[in-house]
Amino acid sequence: MSLRITIDHDRCTGHGRCYMLAPELFDADDEGRPFLLDADPGDHPAEARSAAENCPEGAITVSESVRSGS
Ligand code: SF4
Repeated sequence: MSLRITIDHDRCTGHGRCYMLAPELFDADDEGRPFLLDADPGDHPAEARSAAENCPEGAITVSESVRSGS
């Protein structure tokens, strides 16, 4: 089981809280729009969840994904 972060760019309005709260996981392009440094939060699950909880637009989702081992 691992976590996966996604950004809904249709909802995002570029407030920038995500990359201020979790610079380990999010960065911004030249226009202030966020992008993921890694969709797998790895050692930073709390930061990923904090970014999701504090996004004013609800544009960030942190979900559990099950890797198939076959
Ligand atoms: S906090 Fe949400 S609305 Fe703001 S830049 Fe990040 S994803 Fe976009």
